[in-house]
Amino acid sequence: MMMQTYPSEEQCKTLLQTLVRTNTCQPEGNEEALVDWIVAQLPQDVTQFKIQNASNRASLIVKLEGDEDDGGVAFVGHLDTVACSEADGWTDPPHGAVVKDHTLYGRGACDMKGGDAAMLLTLKYLLENKVTLKRPVYFCFTSDEEASGLGIQSVLSSGYLNAVDAMIVCEPSREQISNSEKGALWIHVAIDGVSAHASRPTLGINAVEYASLLSQRIKNMVTAKSVHPILGPATAAVTKIFGGSMTNIIPAHAEFEMDIRTNPDTSSKDLEGEIDEIIDQLLKEAGQVSTRSGQLKISKTVINNRPAIETSKDHPLIQTLKAIGAKVGINTGERGHFFYTDASQFIPQMHIPFAIAGPGDDALAHCVNESIDLRSVQRFTKLYINYIMQTNKKD
Ligand SMILES: [Zn+2]
Repeated sequence: MMMQTYPSEEQCKTLLQTLVRTNTCQPEGNEEALVDWIVAQLPQDVTQFKIQNASNRASLIVKLEGDEDDGGVAFVGHLDTVACSEADGWTDPPHGAVVKDHTLYGRGACDMKGGDAAMLLTLKYLLENKVTLKRPVYFCFTSDEEASGLGIQSVLSSGYLNAVDAMIVCEPSREQISNSEKGALWIHVAIDGVSAHASRPTLGINAVEYASLLSQRIKNMVTAKSVHPILGPATAAVTKIFGGSMTNIIPAHAEFEMDIRTNPDTSSKDLEGEIDEIIDQLLKEAGQVSTRSGQLKISKTVINNRPAIETSKDHPLIQTLKAIGAKVGINTGERGHFFYTDASQFIPQMHIPFAIAGPGDDALAHCVNESIDLRSVQRFTKLYINYIMQTNKKD
């Protein structure tokens, strides 16, 4: 049988334009429009599971059956994008999908409708060539990745991917293959002190100053942790802070939020314990300065918790992807992702190896004039096709 050729740049362009021109911006999402469009393109006998997440919001799993039902790889991509507004200064309309010199511009072009396009082109290739498989291949399109991850949670609880033994996240990876991603622990801290006339600060307990002291101690603790060979140092940043009412009043209340990014050697449970110790220590020190009208109170809430995850760089999944990557023009250096993906919810429950490998430069994600080089979509489509042909095709 004559094998169909790899998709052309023109095919990548046409498909990606359809995806980008369908507005799936958060917070509405509206991913169901794309799910229904994908379903309409598929032959009816292809196994597919549409999971409704909310009104107009859905996720989709397409399964190509293998000889065995166990194992197999899941390609995962999200269909939602972050919000956008023309008023932000876009040169071309964010849903126009304008192409200039191999580059397609639009919200989601890079994060991550380019990856979705590469998944769909891989699926099309396998179907058109009637490739017979040893084990199943799953194409999983999720909703709501850019917010709370409703889609991947529903995919997990559906059980449809329970037998999968490897996951490829098709998020933009800057022409590289990534084996790890940082975790995130976001905390909100509320501090209550005692107000006083600012001319006599020792009569009060200054909540703003304690917020500053506490956040700095937490940051010092986090950044003293060991440096990961690929992901670099753990980081901590104060990203919100409120407190105080007038220049001449010692503030009785302050709140701040921190975004902490962790490496795989630190569990969020341990990290939380260390933060609690720092808070206890500070309260102990402040015990000596409590005033007649009150004491320092600190309460901490975790508002987001994603573990850092890693697959050994020597694992066959990573090695095979890199070997194929070298043949299709993808850089085989070491890479990790600083931001979390759907894998942060999937991998800790499934305990399977994963890679992040998808078209586009993640530095352009969420930006005004977001764009992707269509040749990158072509390269990653080739990577996915060859990975399946090499590891999973029936002889
Ligand atoms: Zn993304």
